[in-house]
Amino acid sequence: MILLSVDNLEVQYGASQALFGVSFTVAEGEVVALMGRNGMGKTTTIHAINRMVPAMGGSITFDGHDLLRLPSFRAARLGLGLVPEGRRCFAPLTVHENLIASARPGHWDFARIVDLFPRLGERRDQKAASLSGGEQQMLAIARALMTNPRLLLLDEATEGLAPVVRQEIWAAIAVLKRESGLAIVVVDKALKELNKIADRAVIIERGKSVWTGEPAGLTADLADRYLGV
Ligand code: ATP
Repeated sequence: MILLSVDNLEVQYGASQALFGVSFTVAEGEVVALMGRNGMGKTTTIHAINRMVPAMGGSITFDGHDLLRLPSFRAARLGLGLVPEGRRCFAPLTVHENLIASARPGHWDFARIVDLFPRLGERRDQKAASLSGGEQQMLAIARALMTNPRLLLLDEATEGLAPVVRQEIWAAIAVLKRESGLAIVVVDKALKELNKIADRAVIIERGKSVWTGEPAGLTADLADRYLGV
């Protein structure tokens, strides 16, 4: 079943238009990668889904609800779990307090989070501000999971992290896919990892979705033309 459907989405920042028609769907349990070079509109797409920027055209449907007609707090309650770029956590709160602050009833609770990210258990009473970048990223993912979402939106979850920590994050995302059946939209530049984990890829070029398919179908020519690799 289709959980999220983005159709012909258009977004404008003041006088400058950033999205000119982004369309894609995410089925339940599916991992979809949003790809494209810097500044092409991936984060704007994620922000529009989360109602952080207004859409000026197109539609976004989540679990049968027209998201653009709902107030954003109601949209969030439908089960969108955002892991924002820049891994925002409450710096003065401890790991445990951060997690409790976002908790909603469901599968994910503190014990399950610690199974997924044992380091967060070890740092339970440490302030978020004192965590390493990788630990803060784990906490940002964990905070989104604690809301017990139906769709997890990961915006640049491995950006700026050391290779070994990146691997830990990718391993956790693989566990989520395998064991929780959560639908995931992931924005990242790590082609190799996305190829392994994504069921489908969507390429965004200058604010438009220009290609959708299985990652295996991403030929060297397409990667060169749209991703600059
Ligand atoms: P990156 O990988 O660099 O994060 P992206 O594909 O996520 O890139 P966006 O951040 O969505 O791209 O940016 C799309 C376009 O919208 C760019 O031209 C960018 O400069 C512009 N833009 C993004 N945020 C704003 C904003 N708050 N105000 C004005 N323009 C913006």
